[in-house]
Amino acid sequence: MILGAGMTGLAAGWASGFPVFEAEETPGGICSSCYVRPGERATV
Ligand SMILES: Cc1cc2nc3c(=O)[nH]c(=O)nc-3n(C[C@H](O)[C@H](O)[C@H](O)COP(=O)(O)OP(=O)(O)OC[C@H]3O[C@@H](n4cnc5c(N)ncnc54)[C@H](O)[C@@H]3O)c2cc1C
Repeated sequence: MILGAGMTGLAAGWASGFPVFEAEETPGGICSSCYVRPGERATV
């Protein structure tokens, strides 16, 4: 089990095949966009 779906957790999950659990609603951590969420269109 991997806690955190930032770039590190997503890469670890991809490499290991273990499930990744994220505390926030969307993955990406501090590397995620402030403007685009899944299902939304970019506004800038
Ligand atoms: C303004 C800015 C610009 C940057 N520019 C660059 C760049 O040009 N090049 C570069 O290489 N890097 C850059 N970085 C750095 C890069 O974005 C980070 O090093 C990288 O995103 C860190 O990823 P991480 O997965 O280690 O951590 P994080 O992105 O912090 O992800 C951790 C995740 O774990 C989750 N989490 C925490 N606790 C729990 C819990 N108990 N249970 C479940 N989930 C949990 C968090 O919600 C978060 O989603 C930049 C960073 C910033 C802020």
